[in-house]
Amino acid sequence: MPPSFVYSPKYVIDIGDHVFPTRKFGLVAESMGTEGELIEPSLPTKEDLLLAHDADWIDKVLSGKMSLDDETLMELPFSPEISGAHQISVSGTILACRHALEHGVGLHIGGGSHHAFRNHGEGFCVLNDIACGILRMKADGKIKRAAVIDLDVHQGNGTAAIFTGDKDVFTFSMHQEDIYPERKEKSSLDVGLRAGTGDTAFLSLLEENIDKVFEHNPELVVYQAGVDCYEHDVLGGLKLTVDGLARRDKLVFEACRARSVAAAVVLGGGYAACIKDTAALHAQTLRTFAQIS
Ligand SMILES: [Zn+2]
Repeated sequence: MPPSFVYSPKYVIDIGDHVFPTRKFGLVAESMGTEGELIEPSLPTKEDLLLAHDADWIDKVLSGKMSLDDETLMELPFSPEISGAHQISVSGTILACRHALEHGVGLHIGGGSHHAFRNHGEGFCVLNDIACGILRMKADGKIKRAAVIDLDVHQGNGTAAIFTGDKDVFTFSMHQEDIYPERKEKSSLDVGLRAGTGDTAFLSLLEENIDKVFEHNPELVVYQAGVDCYEHDVLGGLKLTVDGLARRDKLVFEACRARSVAAAVVLGGGYAACIKDTAALHAQTLRTFAQIS
C-alpha cells in the first residue's frame, strides 16, 4: 500500500518577506505526492482546540481579535489565512496520530508548533498541534500514555508547559541552549546543546537519552522532526549534516519500530539559506518513516 501524507495546500500562505518559509510545505508535498497519497485535513472542532488551549486564546484565534502584544510574541502578521492554516494544522496532526495508531506511522507535511502555549502563541506558532493530537487520542480512549520526541533546534517550550503535571505524557526536548526561547520551560527530559554541536556528539547524546522516553511506555510517540539543526540553517547554530540528520531520523524510527510504538511525524522548523535544502531535509525525514528508499 502506498504511504499517506497529511497535507493542506492552505499551509502555503504569502506572508511577505518573512524568515518562516511557508512555501516549503508545498515543495515537500510536491515531492511526497509522487511517492504516495496526499490526504487533506479539514478544520478542527473547537473542542479539539480546547483540549490544549484556554477558551480566551481560542476566541482570539477564531475571531482574529489579537492585541499587538499577541502578534509581536507570535512573530507573525496575523490574518484569517494564518488562523485557518494553523487550525487545519491541528486536524492534520490529529489525523497523523490516528494514522500512526492504525498503521504504525502517521506522516504530516506540516505541524510541530511547539512554541504555542495554552494561553498564547509564540515564535511562529499559534496552536499546539502536538498537544491537541495527543490529547485528542487520549480523550477518544485510543491511548493512555504518549511521548513527544522534539529534536527541533529550539526547545519545545509550549509543549513542555502544556504537559507539566500530566504524568501520562513524557516530553523530551533536545535543543540548542543559547538561542530562543531565552527562558526554557521544564520538559520531562531536556538535553541542552552548545552551539556548534555536530553529528557525532548529537547522535551519541540522542542514543544515550532516547531509551528514557520508552521507559515511560508510550503507546504513541509524536516526533517533532525540525530540521533547523542543519549546519546551514539561518536561525540555528548546530552543525548537523544532511547525513547526520538522516541518521537522527533513522535512530528515532528504529527506536519506535523496535518497540512497536506508533509514531506520528510532524515537520517543525527549518530555515536553511536555501529553501530547497529545507524541503529536501523534511522529505528525507518522511521517506525514512514511510520506508521509501
Ligand atoms: Zn525551531
